[in-house]
Amino acid sequence: MRTPEEYYSDLKKMRKNIYIGGDKVGRDDPRLSGNIKVMQTTFELAQNQEWEDIITAKSSITGHKINRFTHLPQHPFDLIQKQKMIRLAATRVGGCIQRCMGQDALVALSVATKEIDEELGTEYHQRFLAYLEEYQQKDWAAACCQTDSKGDRIKRPYQQENSEAYVHIVEEKSEGIIVSGLKISITMAAVADELLVVPTRALTEKDRDFAVAFAIPADWENIRLVTRPVWLRKRKKFRCPYTEMGVSESVVVFDNTFIPKERVFMCGEWQFGRRLALLFADSHRFSYTGCKPAVSDILCGAAALVAEANNIHHSSHVMEKLSEIAGTGELAFAAGIAAALYGEKTSSGTFIPNVIYANVGRRLMGEFIYHEFNILTELAGGLSVTLPFEEEFLSEETRKDMEKLMKRNSDISYEEACHIWRFVESLAASPMTSWYQIAGVHGGGSPIMETITLNAEIDHEAKKNIARYLAGINKELDQSKELWRKPANLTIDQR
Ligand SMILES: Cc1cc2nc3c(=O)[nH]c(=O)nc-3n(C[C@H](O)[C@H](O)[C@H](O)COP(=O)(O)OP(=O)(O)OC[C@H]3O[C@@H](n4cnc5c(N)ncnc54)[C@H](O)[C@@H]3O)c2cc1C
Repeated sequence: MRTPEEYYSDLKKMRKNIYIGGDKVGRDDPRLSGNIKVMQTTFELAQNQEWEDIITAKSSITGHKINRFTHLPQHPFDLIQKQKMIRLAATRVGGCIQRCMGQDALVALSVATKEIDEELGTEYHQRFLAYLEEYQQKDWAAACCQTDSKGDRIKRPYQQENSEAYVHIVEEKSEGIIVSGLKISITMAAVADELLVVPTRALTEKDRDFAVAFAIPADWENIRLVTRPVWLRKRKKFRCPYTEMGVSESVVVFDNTFIPKERVFMCGEWQFGRRLALLFADSHRFSYTGCKPAVSDILCGAAALVAEANNIHHSSHVMEKLSEIAGTGELAFAAGIAAALYGEKTSSGTFIPNVIYANVGRRLMGEFIYHEFNILTELAGGLSVTLPFEEEFLSEETRKDMEKLMKRNSDISYEEACHIWRFVESLAASPMTSWYQIAGVHGGGSPIMETITLNAEIDHEAKKNIARYLAGINKELDQSKELWRKPANLTIDQR
């Protein structure tokens, strides 16, 4: 497993193909440093014996010890460990740990390549396993490029006037394929070793050229990353881990890019577009049941601290609001545990989460996110967005005034109050605030996508059967359809 330093040293060797604010830059650009720190945390935790069970796993291919972020879950316990890993890591970086998208894409590819081979006699799965072995051995971190720029939302890929709206196959050769098109909003692509590309939606036969999946180094020839990093103002005195972290999204431009055959995992099998897209989305929605409870932990902790700073923490409405944030976070976590226990062993051997529980957990958190920020804002009062700059808390001329401003709860020192208020400002009134809110709604698919998935999965007829029985229309209750009847048969072997 790589150390944080080895990861960064590998990044620095990559070809400059990133565009930020008018500059063409490499991975050592300071605007990416917060993003790199987040990623380094995933390597650092794996070196820590205390977290060994959670952050590392035994490879299902080689049996070697690997970073769990490169692992394919094999049983329910593996999924629960993944969920715990994400929650643990997320609390250390202030929220999104960013390395799970790559893992979720690996999960999706492992299952889909096997299923395509089984139905169409292709040879994708062995190819994928050979790639994964290298991925695990080199301890790579990948971005998942799923979201296409999509152009006119109402039109299918083949109907678009601009064919670049979806990544597609331009040419097929014996040694590989040429692809073009734009993927957008791709988190951590600028600090990833690899890009994993999967389709974004269900496809029709006419969309054959858009049915494409592959893996490629992020600095490969004819790939451009047009990147928007998010970082926070550097502190002079009241330094804190939260403002050291950052994130970035990229428009990933494939411009007649050659993909070697051994890295192509879908090429024209349009029938599997929906399956592969959903395998990623559902696996990623499960990941949210780990990271989103951590975001709730952070928001709840900050709300509790600022309530203390305002000396309102004993009021009943404060306690009620705090328990609302904490309770909802735990509900999402519980949905993740249910998704793991009721998950499914696929023919590839990869164990995938239950679709219904993963989606209800993710949708709950996507819809609740603004409410959590609202609670923090309500308890903090307006100062979170009107707080004077740090310099005024340090300068001889204004420090005395700022001391008076900070004096609210006599049990809290000036220094501590400064840390609390600056943290609340960073959390509730900064570019990161909007990032977390919008990522909460759309990351992993907008809430409407979860609703569509749920409506496809939920057996409404079974529910009507219950109502028919209770209403006296039917004499018998069809018990075979109830979801609670099919939990995974957990045995000690599966742990
Ligand atoms: C912070 C952040 C990080 C992200 N990271 C990643 C990442 O790492 N990898 C990745 O692949 N993606 C990533 N995404 C993208 C994310 O998955 C998408 O934002 C999400 O799926 C919604 O797609 P969209 O943004 O194109 O919005 P749209 O699909 O354009 O949705 C906008 C609205 O249009 C509606 N709509 C769309 N199509 C139709 C239609 N045909 N008919 C009627 N209504 C329609 C939607 O329901 C929605 O209300 C990220 C997004 C964010 C915000």
